[in-house]
Amino acid sequence: MREDICSIPINEVFEPKDGCPYCRMRDMLEDRMATYITGAAMMEPDVRVETNRLGFCETHMKHILERGSRLSVALILQTLLDANTEEILPEESKINVKKATTNADRREKSCFVCENIDKNIEHLCSTVLKLWQNEPDFRKLYSEQTHICLKHYNMIQKTGEKKMNKKVFQDFSKENHRLARNYMDTLRHDIGHFCKMFDYRSKGEDWGNSRDAIERSVEFLTSRKPGTTTKTEGKNR
Ligand SMILES: [Zn+2]
Ligand SMILES: [Zn+2]
Repeated sequence: MREDICSIPINEVFEPKDGCPYCRMRDMLEDRMATYITGAAMMEPDVRVETNRLGFCETHMKHILERGSRLSVALILQTLLDANTEEILPEESKINVKKATTNADRREKSCFVCENIDKNIEHLCSTVLKLWQNEPDFRKLYSEQTHICLKHYNMIQKTGEKKMNKKVFQDFSKENHRLARNYMDTLRHDIGHFCKMFDYRSKGEDWGNSRDAIERSVEFLTSRKPGTTTKTEGKNR
């Protein structure tokens, strides 16, 4: 795969100071990857071999559908269906149940985009660690983030612990904890306020920042904006 697809300037990711920067990093990579798969990669046989081998998870299949033309998606699916036929649903006379179920299990867990994104995020995170350790300006920019979501808090803590020396990691860990915990406290407050507003004693009081507390909490817990939303307030269901 062409390398420039995944080269992202770290400062650009951290500059907006709006939401989890690691979610932004992933979103940028996902966006480039889906555009690439349904565009330039159509002409690169070695990429097609890999997409046929690994397939796509539900999330990334959706991205491909959103970005590709009907024809490019159909061409990707055509060879992907062939690969699945061969591995899981060969001619009846050639069935080997054990082999077929092993293949099916593997395919359920594999995704070309996930695999590439994980690899590239790991690479980008190493750069983040280096910048945080060596560049005071970046350290300041990092501290100015609104928050880090729970999934990426876990991710960067694990990476930091593995790759930084103990003393530096202590400070880095403290900073990550501050960014995740402060926002967690904000959400807990806002969700609490939201629930309280359903009490008849709260009648006429201000909703404050609590109106989208559900959506923000789901995004913080899952690292993804919820596609569906709940019924409007007032209806208890
Ligand atoms: Zn995140
Ligand atoms: Zn995926």
